[in-house]
Amino acid sequence: MIWLTQFLCPSRHCAFGAVWDDETQSRDEIERDLRAQTRAAGLVEECGICGAAVTPEHRALPGMTMEQALPIAKELQQANLASRALLDAFGLTRDSQRARRRDTEN
Ligand SMILES: [Zn+2]
Repeated sequence: MIWLTQFLCPSRHCAFGAVWDDETQSRDEIERDLRAQTRAAGLVEECGICGAAVTPEHRALPGMTMEQALPIAKELQQANLASRALLDAFGLTRDSQRARRRDTEN
């Protein structure tokens, strides 16, 4: 079975996630891998939009193959990154507000 795991805040903003196959990974393994990748990227487990903590949510994608699910997930990721860039540009995210405070303090 193919799964979508997303680390979501209570407002359901997705901080990070992945599509994975339970024939090759477990829920614990994908959570551990995603957390390690987040730390390695210098990020923390919180929502960059609202600042809330994120927790993992796993959803099965019945009837989907990895070859079908991956392009859809990548397309959604690009759309989310574009939305996020717009919110950042307008100063509407927690991260952009923090950056602005740092700039005015220096
Ligand atoms: Zn959020």
